[in-house]
Amino acid sequence: MHLETDVCIVGGGIMGAATAYTISRMTENRILLLDRYGVGNDYCSSNDINRVFRYAYGSDQYYTKMAIETLGLWTKLEKETNHELLIPTGLLMLEGDDDRANKFNESSFRTLTKLELGAHMYEGPELKEHFPQFQAENAFFDPHGGVLLASKSLKTFASEARNHGVKILKKKVTKFRDKPSLEIETAEGDRVQAKKMVVTVGPWTNAHLKNGLTGITPTRQQLVYLKPSRDPERFKPSSCPVFFTDHHYGLPAAGINGVKISNKELIDPVDPETARRSVDQEQIEQCRDACRRFVPSLAEGEVVQTKVCLYDMTENSDFVIDRDPDHHDIVYGYGFSGHGFKFAPLVGKLLAELVLDLDPSLDLSRFSVQKSERKRQITSGQLGKGE
Ligand SMILES: Cc1cc2nc3c(=O)[nH]c(=O)nc-3n(C[C@H](O)[C@H](O)[C@H](O)COP(=O)(O)OP(=O)(O)OC[C@H]3O[C@@H](n4cnc5c(N)ncnc54)[C@H](O)[C@@H]3O)c2cc1C
Repeated sequence: MHLETDVCIVGGGIMGAATAYTISRMTENRILLLDRYGVGNDYCSSNDINRVFRYAYGSDQYYTKMAIETLGLWTKLEKETNHELLIPTGLLMLEGDDDRANKFNESSFRTLTKLELGAHMYEGPELKEHFPQFQAENAFFDPHGGVLLASKSLKTFASEARNHGVKILKKKVTKFRDKPSLEIETAEGDRVQAKKMVVTVGPWTNAHLKNGLTGITPTRQQLVYLKPSRDPERFKPSSCPVFFTDHHYGLPAAGINGVKISNKELIDPVDPETARRSVDQEQIEQCRDACRRFVPSLAEGEVVQTKVCLYDMTENSDFVIDRDPDHHDIVYGYGFSGHGFKFAPLVGKLLAELVLDLDPSLDLSRFSVQKSERKRQITSGQLGKGE
């Protein structure tokens, strides 16, 4: 098949879908969105039941400020579509035995307090009184934390984009070149001629990059959903916040009758083509151990679901949102490093601005695609650890 379009977006996870949606709202451009497994497939990183939203980012005000801006965009999308996508619950950061985790929580509290964002510290009895389902000495609270209904959000962006004329096809892009004009080939034998192209293929990114550009490490992450063995009401989003423990994070039973628990520190590099998609018993046991310490009613709970998802980790957990330095018409959005979902509407807006040759509404120097322009180290301890 020979196709012609103004903008071709490769990769229909949340970032590709949000970009297609945004461009379709801003212009009359012809937009084609291609995904090798189809939008909403089980392999992508975006299609899980829920994801964490938070303002808390340690001492890194940059991400906190991005989260503030993104919240407005989620709210706008909810109003426009009449779908609830973000359930406000707050985020409870429980004090534990791990220094690094405690420091991150404390610096998040300090940043949120400095920015007058209403952070709270719960000490001893006050914590027990407000959140009896948790067991810790103290905790910090980010009142802006919440649960994003992830697969519902992906579906919403994609169907809104489709309603605005975006053509969505299940096709695997094998090659693209920008000389003399932008041409894209698919495994199905199609040739697409496009004026502009956006690449949002998450964990599969390395297959499409040339030397000198920032690469990613796909890592295998394991999620466990546990049904509380008592007090199920205390684990609904109306009474249970998102929570962080020393090495795990959890989400209340939203979109499913189980509480999601996952290790936020797993480093298990994989090839996205061959990654094993089943959860190890050892991880389930580690989640139970974390619950024994911090959330006892979950420790013996029935496993209602498990899932493996891949992070696309950059060297420092900062995203890539940039134009190809040699090919102005190619724009990249990847490396969302286990913490990008919450920013999807903003990322969609930024990628749309790049592709439409507008000045980006945010300083994107931190998200350069060029290795030489990226910061060496992140300042806060727990960026990109799955929330
Ligand atoms: C376990 C886990 C927990 C997470 N928790 C959180 C959280 O709580 N909060 C948060 O903010 N973020 C979280 N994240 C991160 C967030 O989910 C990801 O950053 C985000 O989903 C990435 O979206 P994406 O669109 O870039 O990639 P993906 O969703 O992976 O989409 C990429 C798409 O590209 C397609 N594709 C690949 N190659 C090709 C090709 N050659 N041709 C056509 N299509 C192709 C794939 O089929 C896929 O659909 C988590 C991630 C994981 C894995």
